[in-house]
Amino acid sequence: MSSPSRELVRTLTATEYGLYIHGTWESPPNAPRFQTKNPATGALVGSFVSATAEDATRAVTAAAQAFPAWRDTPAPHRGELLRQVADVLRRRKPELGRLVTEEMGKVIEEGLGDVQESIDFVDYIASEGRRLAGETVPSELHHKFCLTVRQPKGVIASITPWNFPTAIPNWKIAAALVAGNSVVLKPASNTAGCAAEIVRAYHEVGFPPGVLNLVTGAGATVGNALIDDPRVRAVSFTGGVDTGRQVNVRGAQHLKMVHLELGGKNPMIVMGDANLDLALDGVLFGAFGTAGQRCTATSRLLLQDSIHDQFLAKLLERVKTFKVGDPLDPAIDMGPVASADQEQKILEYIEIGKAEGAKLLCGGQKLTGGVYDRGHFIAPTIFSVQHGSRLSLEEIFGPVLSVIRFRDYEEAVRIANGVDYGLSSSIYTQNVNLAFRSMDDLEAGITYVNAPTIGAEVQLPFGGIKNTGNGGREAGSVAIEEFTELKTVFIDFSNRLQKAQIEESP
Ligand code: NAD
Repeated sequence: MSSPSRELVRTLTATEYGLYIHGTWESPPNAPRFQTKNPATGALVGSFVSATAEDATRAVTAAAQAFPAWRDTPAPHRGELLRQVADVLRRRKPELGRLVTEEMGKVIEEGLGDVQESIDFVDYIASEGRRLAGETVPSELHHKFCLTVRQPKGVIASITPWNFPTAIPNWKIAAALVAGNSVVLKPASNTAGCAAEIVRAYHEVGFPPGVLNLVTGAGATVGNALIDDPRVRAVSFTGGVDTGRQVNVRGAQHLKMVHLELGGKNPMIVMGDANLDLALDGVLFGAFGTAGQRCTATSRLLLQDSIHDQFLAKLLERVKTFKVGDPLDPAIDMGPVASADQEQKILEYIEIGKAEGAKLLCGGQKLTGGVYDRGHFIAPTIFSVQHGSRLSLEEIFGPVLSVIRFRDYEEAVRIANGVDYGLSSSIYTQNVNLAFRSMDDLEAGITYVNAPTIGAEVQLPFGGIKNTGNGGREAGSVAIEEFTELKTVFIDFSNRLQKAQIEESP
């Protein structure tokens, strides 16, 4: 008898993971478990412990105990360990990229890209171990020295979503650790395997027990226990607006720092003078890359009157050639959406669009037949909508693009800004004046000129305004601000009591 295929083995068995607390993988024999499934095939991927609030509290205890020694470890040494993590991720990139695709459903090129973003960020932030700079500032008094130093906050709770299942956990973990904090990670349940494999990389290079902990399980059960624990000094959250609001309100009751990275409703403006072929490539990647499940996805396409009909006709032709299918096949453009819940929510939005009178131009349904029957595949969908409709205002987080017509630049900016979100934005134009004006005019944390709304690079700050967040930024040189306190130090070597604001200047 021939041995069962890899796919069959995957369907019948899931890799078992435990909680990772104090440097040990724990799998209590009778603990309830949940499983992750490949959204393209339904095959099992991983099996995880459904942690209790007590498990979360134990993880915080481990992190709190590990914190003092980790804080006292010289920052360059902390950075050096992170550099080794980047090496492990580099070595394991093919396997991890495949896992991202199998557990979350993005096409393999993007699965590998997710891991590459992890590698890039860990490499980048490792160097922060040799910076972590404060500043020196002159004193108004004689023989007095003034400076600031960056200090870690303590235990950080990191709560992450599923759409960048390795990159977002790494953004949070690595920045927190290099700054000297200890961390409890609570990942999205449907991509818990990616998070566990990331934690394994940190384990492999020998991070001290308790410095990084992983607790899998239900958002509210684990999340509430982490947020309510007084030893957790800050919460770093990426996810939806409704969850983010709950996390923020709960954290506020404890006067706790909560960093929020939330949703988006990102516009791409195409002016009449734009390079239309470039804009076409841009909107296809921006709207349907990762099946529209990026927080920066292009979900609104704003077309100027003069090119509206021509551009739309070309776009609809191009979408017909778009290949949806097995995300492990490199020839495929778009895989499934990430879960049954995602599928249901996106199909509901398609019905909302139809009900509110939006004109369906293509797609608009679940794909069925053949490989599609095993997974959650939705056709790339384009609606022509009026600004002000629900499709034009609400985050759908799926392969659904809303097209809106505009007369002139001023109207485009009004429409682009007329939503509650402000994460990413884009304009295609050859007019240098409009390109520069858009930098000022578009209400968003990120603006791209002649590129789609997606494509973050780790050495630049990432985040948004309005309901997209509460003012912080991840990545870039500012990434460590979320995870450090600034201590101001005055050193008086005058040997006498000096009084600021009271002593006369000489
Ligand atoms: P989600 O809000 O459903 O879940 C995010 C995380 O919060 C998960 O780990 C979940 O288990 C946890 N959670 C759920 N309820 C909780 C509670 N009551 N207390 C504490 N934690 C709880 O989001 P999602 O569906 O995983 O991700 C999609 C959303 O994330 C989209 O809105 C997307 O725009 C957003 N996102 C934003 C960014 C950004 O940087 N701005 C990046 C990626 C994704």
